[in-house]
Amino acid sequence: MIKIIVVGNGMVGYKFCEKFISKSGQEKYQITVFGEEPRRAYDRVHLSEYFAGKTADDLSMSTSNWYEQNNILLNTSELITDIHKENKTITTHLEKTHSYDYLVLATGSAAFVPPIEGVEKEGVFVYRTIEDLDAIMAYAKKIKINGATEAAVLGGGLLGLEAAKAVRDLGLNPHVVEFAPRLMPRQLDKGASDMLQSKIEALNIGIHLNKSTQYIAGDDAITGMMFQEDQLLKVDMLVISAGIKPRDELGRSAGLEVGVRGGIVVDNKMQTSDPSIYAIGEVALYNQMIYGLVAPGYEMADVVAEQILGSEKVMRESIDMSTQLKLIGVEVASFGDPFIENENVTAIIFENKFNGTYKRINVTKDGKTLLGGILVGDSSDYNSLFQIYSNAMKLPENPEDLILGSRGGEASSMGSAMDLPDTAVICSCENVTKGAICCSITDGSCETLGDVIKATKATSGCGGCKPMVVDLVKETQKSLGKEVKDVVCEHFAYSRQELFDIVKINKFTNHNEVLGTVGKGDGCEVCRPLLSSIFSSIYNDTANKHVTSQDTNDRFLANIQRNGTYSVVPRMAGGEVTAEKLIAIGEVAKEYNLYTKITGAQRVDLFGAELNDLPAIWKKLIDSGFESGHAYGKSLRAVKSCVGNAWCRYGMDDSTTFAIELENRYRGIRSPHKLKGGVSACIRECAEARGKDFGVIAVEGGWNLYICGNGGANPKHAVLLAEQIDKETVFKYMDRFLMYYIRTAGPLVRTSTWLEKLEGGLDYLKKVVIDDSLAINETLEAEMQTLVDTFECEWKQAIEDPEMMKRFSHFTNSDDRDDSIEYIALREQKMPKAW
Ligand SMILES: Cc1cc2nc3c(=O)[nH]c(=O)nc-3n(C[C@H](O)[C@H](O)[C@H](O)COP(=O)(O)OP(=O)(O)OC[C@H]3O[C@@H](n4cnc5c(N)ncnc54)[C@H](O)[C@@H]3O)c2cc1C
Ligand code: SF4
Ligand code: SF4
Repeated sequence: MIKIIVVGNGMVGYKFCEKFISKSGQEKYQITVFGEEPRRAYDRVHLSEYFAGKTADDLSMSTSNWYEQNNILLNTSELITDIHKENKTITTHLEKTHSYDYLVLATGSAAFVPPIEGVEKEGVFVYRTIEDLDAIMAYAKKIKINGATEAAVLGGGLLGLEAAKAVRDLGLNPHVVEFAPRLMPRQLDKGASDMLQSKIEALNIGIHLNKSTQYIAGDDAITGMMFQEDQLLKVDMLVISAGIKPRDELGRSAGLEVGVRGGIVVDNKMQTSDPSIYAIGEVALYNQMIYGLVAPGYEMADVVAEQILGSEKVMRESIDMSTQLKLIGVEVASFGDPFIENENVTAIIFENKFNGTYKRINVTKDGKTLLGGILVGDSSDYNSLFQIYSNAMKLPENPEDLILGSRGGEASSMGSAMDLPDTAVICSCENVTKGAICCSITDGSCETLGDVIKATKATSGCGGCKPMVVDLVKETQKSLGKEVKDVVCEHFAYSRQELFDIVKINKFTNHNEVLGTVGKGDGCEVCRPLLSSIFSSIYNDTANKHVTSQDTNDRFLANIQRNGTYSVVPRMAGGEVTAEKLIAIGEVAKEYNLYTKITGAQRVDLFGAELNDLPAIWKKLIDSGFESGHAYGKSLRAVKSCVGNAWCRYGMDDSTTFAIELENRYRGIRSPHKLKGGVSACIRECAEARGKDFGVIAVEGGWNLYICGNGGANPKHAVLLAEQIDKETVFKYMDRFLMYYIRTAGPLVRTSTWLEKLEGGLDYLKKVVIDDSLAINETLEAEMQTLVDTFECEWKQAIEDPEMMKRFSHFTNSDDRDDSIEYIALREQKMPKAW
C-alpha cells in the first residue's frame, strides 16, 4: 500500500483528495489527512455567507461520510508539528508518528497581521475561519449592548471589503482603512477605485485611504485607531484583512527551501526541494508568487494527483488572476493586465457617473488584441471579455463596442458562447473547457445542466461562469435536436411548470417528499422557496407552513428594510379606508414609533418595526379589522383604483368597487412573481391600469381587460385581452389567465416576460383563456375558486399560534431586543438610522 499523507484539510487539500480518488481508484493507495481545524473542509470563498445564516455543514465541501466512503482517514483537530524527511515520517501534536511515501503540504495561509502596537487588544480579529466569524459575531453583539456603533476593517482589498459588508450586516458602521491610495490596489486603477469608493460610501461605509495606523488605542480593549497624522478613528472593533501569510512553518523547520517573504518553493511539478514532498495551494511559492485564489490551488492539486500517479502533467507557466465578484452589492471584475500602460497600448475607458459604472479595456495600438481590463458597477460583459482576452480572439472593428455594445440592449459583440474555441477555459476555478462541457453532452454521458455540473464540476467554485455554462448546455442540446429544458436548479431535472404538475398529480405536500421522489440532494435556496410557492398555489398553504424553506421576507411575513427593521402593510383594498381604521393605524404607529407613508399602491406603509414587535403590531391591526397586505410575498399586492363614477364626472362605472372585488378575490394567492392590478373608470386612466399585470378600464358598453403590463425598471404597457365585456366575464377571464400563468411561468418571471416567451404570444393566450383551445378552462376556474374559498390571513394565523410566533425574535432562544437600532429625526417623524 502506498501511503499519502495530506497536511491541511482546507479547500485545496480536499480538492487534492477528490481529484486523486477520481483518477486512481483506491486499492493501491492509503490517503490520510490531518487538519488543524475542528471540522471537515469547508468553502472559505463563501465564508461570509455564514453571517447570512449558512451553517458550517452548509459550507462543507463534502457530505459527512465522503471521506469514509472513499477510504480516506480524516483526522480533524490534529496539528502536524514536525516532518522527518530522512525517515519519511510526520509527528502530530498528540505525539503520534505516521509514515508516508508521499507528503502533500496543503497548509494554506493565515491572515497577515501587521506589527502595529496594540493589535493584541481585545476586539481585534482576523477573518479567515469559522471560529474567527463566531468570535466576531459574539463580540459585536456584546459591544452593541454597551452602545458601540463603529467598527473598522484594516485593508481595502477584496477580502477587506467583504469583511466590511459582514461588519455592516452585524449592525455596526464599518470604516475601511487602507494604506494604499486606492481600493483593491491589486485589481483596480484610480478611476475604478474612485467609482467603487463612491458606490460604497453611498451605503454609509466610511473609506479612509492613504492611512497608516500608528497604534491601536484602548486599555484592554480597542477604542480607536491612531493614524500617522495624529487622527484618531474611534472604533470598538477591528477586523484585520490586510493580506495573507503562508503557513510554511512546517516546511521551514524541516529544512525545505522557502522564499524570502515566505512560502514553500515548488517547481512546476509542485515538488518541493524534497522530491517526496509536494506543496499546493496558498502555502506554495510557484514562480515566486503565492496565489491567493482557489483556481490556481485546484490546478496545483490536479498536477500533484497526476504526478503521483505517474503522469507528466505540470503546472502552467503563467497563471491567470482574473476575478469577478460582487462586493457589498457592487459588481467588480478585472482580467488580464488591468493596468498596462505603454506606447503600444491604448486604454479605452468608459465612465458613467450617473449610473455608477466604470469600464476599461486595454487594447494593442493596432486594435487587434485585448490585453486586460476592469469593470465596476456592471460586470455583465466580464465572461465575454475574459474569453476574448484568454483565447486571443479577434476584436470587432471598433474595439470600444466591446464595452459599449450593450447600448440599447443589444447583445454582446462577442456573439454566442458556442463561437468560442473548444480549448476556451469556461470555469477557471475547476479548469473546465468549453470542449469538456459540450462533449459531456454530445458523448451522451450527460443530459441536463445538473449532470454537466456533476460530471465536470464547472460552476462549483466561485460560480461566476454559470451563465455561460447554462448557455453552452442549452446550445449543445439544441444542436443535437434535443428538447431544451429550463430546469429550476441542479436538484431537479424539471422546469417549474413540470414541478407544478408533478406536485399536483402526486399530491405531494412537503419538500422532502418531492426531493426524495423526483429530485436529489437536500435542495437549495432556489428550489426550496419555489416548492413552497407551488404548495401555496395548489393548496393555499400560507407562508407559515414550510417556514425554513421560505425566503426571508416570507419567513418573517414582512419586508426587511435597509436598516434591519421591517415594514408593516395592512391591506386597504381599492385604497379605501375608514376613519376608525385610520385612527387605529395612527395609534399603532405612535405606540411603536413607526414612520408612516402612503405607498404607490394606495395604502399606508408603517416602517421601522422591530422583529420582536411585529406580532403585537399585527395583533392590534387585526383587532381593528385589518389583514395582511402581502406586501412581502410573491402574490397579489394591490389593485389600484381611481375614484370612478362615485365622484368623478368623467367616470363611466364604479371602478373602486370593482378594484375592491378584484383585490379581495385574488388576495394572498402565491404566484411565480408579484402581481399588481388597476381599475380606471375611463380612458383617462388615473389608476395607471395598463402599467399593471392586469388592468381593467371602463369603456362604452363594458370593461376592457388588459394583461401583462408592469412598471419598474423596464416598463411595459399591458395588452388588450378582451374588450367591452361585463364584470362577470372579466372575473372569468381573470381566473383563467392568472391560474394559467401560475401553472406555467418560470420562477420569478413576471407576467410581461412570461407572455413574451409564450409560444404564439397573445393570440395563443387568447385562444386558451377565451376560446378554451386546451379545454382546461373549467379546471382553471375550479382551481382558482378553491384558492379563493380557502383564503386565510397568514398574520392572523401566525399570532394565534405560539409555535409560529417563535420565529419573531432577534436572538435565538432569547427575547432580547435589538438594542443597536438608532433613530434619527426625519421631517416630523423619526426613522431608524440606516446600517
Ligand atoms: C473570506 C474569504 C473570501 C475569499 N474569497 C475568495 C474568492 O472569492 N475567490 C478565490 O479564488 N479565493 C477566495 N479566497 C481565498 C481562498 O479561500 C483560498 O485561496 C483557499 O481557501 C486556499 O486553500 P488552501 O487549502 O490552500 O488553504 P486553507 O483553506 O487556508 O486551508 C489550509 C488548512 O490547513 C490547516 N493547517 C495549517 N497548518 C496545519 C498543520 N500543521 N497541521 C494540520 N493542519 C494545518 C489550516 O488550519 C487550514 O484548515 C477567500 C478567502 C477568504 C478567507
Ligand atoms: S380615470 Fe377617468 S373616471 Fe377615473 S378618476 Fe380619472 S378621469 Fe375620473
Ligand atoms: S423604487 Fe422601489 S425598490 Fe427602488 S428604491 Fe424605491 S421603493 Fe425601493
